[in-house]
Amino acid sequence: MADKAKFQAIKGVRDILPPESALWTRVEQTARDVFGTFGFGEIRLPIFERTELFARSIGVDTDVVLKEMYSFEDKGRGELAVLRDVLAGFNPAPHSAEFRNTVMKALDKYWEALNSPSSSDEVPRDPDNLKLIEAFKRNYNQFLRVRTSESALTSELTDALVWGLQSLARLIQLGEFVSLRPEATASVVRAYIEHGMQTLPGNVKLYYVGPMFRRERPQKGRYRQFYQIGAEVLGPSDAPGIDAEVIEMLMRLFERLKLKGAVLNINSIGDKNCRPAYVEKLRAELQKVRDQLSADSQRRIETNPLRVLDSKLESEQAIINKLPHIDQNLCADCRTHYDEVKRQLKIRGILPTENWRLVRGLDYYMRTTFEITAPGLGSQNAVCGGGRYDGLVELLGGPASTKGIGFAIGTDRLVLSLQEAGETRADVTVRVTGSALTVAAGSVTVSGSGPDVFLAWFGAAAQAAAVGLARRLRDAGFVVELPAVEMKFGKSLGLADRLKARHAVIVGDDELAAGVVTVKRLSDSSQQKLNEQELFSYLREDRAT
Ligand code: ATP
Ligand code: MG
Repeated sequence: MADKAKFQAIKGVRDILPPESALWTRVEQTARDVFGTFGFGEIRLPIFERTELFARSIGVDTDVVLKEMYSFEDKGRGELAVLRDVLAGFNPAPHSAEFRNTVMKALDKYWEALNSPSSSDEVPRDPDNLKLIEAFKRNYNQFLRVRTSESALTSELTDALVWGLQSLARLIQLGEFVSLRPEATASVVRAYIEHGMQTLPGNVKLYYVGPMFRRERPQKGRYRQFYQIGAEVLGPSDAPGIDAEVIEMLMRLFERLKLKGAVLNINSIGDKNCRPAYVEKLRAELQKVRDQLSADSQRRIETNPLRVLDSKLESEQAIINKLPHIDQNLCADCRTHYDEVKRQLKIRGILPTENWRLVRGLDYYMRTTFEITAPGLGSQNAVCGGGRYDGLVELLGGPASTKGIGFAIGTDRLVLSLQEAGETRADVTVRVTGSALTVAAGSVTVSGSGPDVFLAWFGAAAQAAAVGLARRLRDAGFVVELPAVEMKFGKSLGLADRLKARHAVIVGDDELAAGVVTVKRLSDSSQQKLNEQELFSYLREDRAT
């Protein structure tokens, strides 16, 4: 007998089970409700996009793009892809005459497949790829001419041509490079431009909910598939009142969710007029203390000195705290904008902590940046990051006049923080032993608590009656667990108990004959016989208490 496969979720990804999933639904639904009252509409985005979209917007020097994206060449699975792998696998010349024949056959087949109508639909037609295909064609034609003369088959020229063709085949892209989205702002902006949303009146306000993918080291609050709830405002205005309202919306959401101890940090990181000079100043200061910095920070002196400010390394704190602050280096416009954001927050009753070291890991941010931390999360304590990105729409080919600001909440961390604080509103216990899940026989209700009614039936006639009653109870909104097969009385009530049902409703021959059901409240075992109308009133009253 073959070994039984033991499948487990891939490292860094996980299942979210009842009753925890009920808390997730509550968090996401509350976000939809709150964002809706601020005039935001939902955008549903693709899970993958062209790699270039992320590389351009997030920036090629960032950890997200350099180390964390899941990318692949989205090529067809057909002959063409196989032939490319075959060609790439051949060693370079010199070959024996026999083997050279094999290589040549593979080259012929590859060229034929590349020109077949089905693959020419899929092979990207961007200028770079077309240039490569053109080069292949030229060399291949030359190669055809050479190989008609017998003697040439052993010549170095043939070897060189074959080697050149092999290399070109390796370079020709057979599909777009795509990536699983590591974040969604780039996609929102892509969609904004693609659908010409700049012609819509006022600011375009969008929110999204869904999974993101980053290949990071998994730990508490850090996963490879994680979830975000985010929102973006895109439009012609960069009024500080927009920044403040976006932050206010977040604070309202956290308030509604009863998230306690959330701290709002804000900063302004300047714009293209004043930031470059500050970055240079920072770089110069960092060069002076280079030897005392970690390898990561040393690398960032060249690539992105602002990110050094983000360092959590104990040994670097004293050094970083002596570096020049950005707020003394902002231009007049950025200064005014930042001051006004703070005033606008104040009239909304929001008092942020100013944090000059708050920078973001994505290149597109400018001016206002903010982050919200929550308790109970250890070192991964940021539940939300956001900021202004006025140049991004232009960078991705949209109108230069469009400004933008947005945030992304890490849903996994938000849920964790609520759980740590006991704000779970879910009381079915699901026991987890090692990696195996043990639940009581039967199913676990997704509502986060046990069923209102466990409907125990005995006998075929009672089953038909119970099916009808279950339907009417469910129509009235009650959660009903109906055994699919007949159970012994004791087992049935035992299961009702373990599922934490509030009531067992019993239908047997006696009940059928009398036109009633027996209702047993499981918390105190009190029992009574009720007709259907009485049962509904009783359950409604019970629910109200
Ligand atoms: P961090 O500094 O924690 O790596 P980040 O700056 O990379 O966060 P953003 O790109 O701003 O994060 O994403 C916004 C929010 O998404 C973060 O504040 C966090 O709550 C959440 N988040 C980011 N990466 C992960 C992850 N790998 N697992 C779980 N949540 C994440
Ligand atoms: Mg990160």
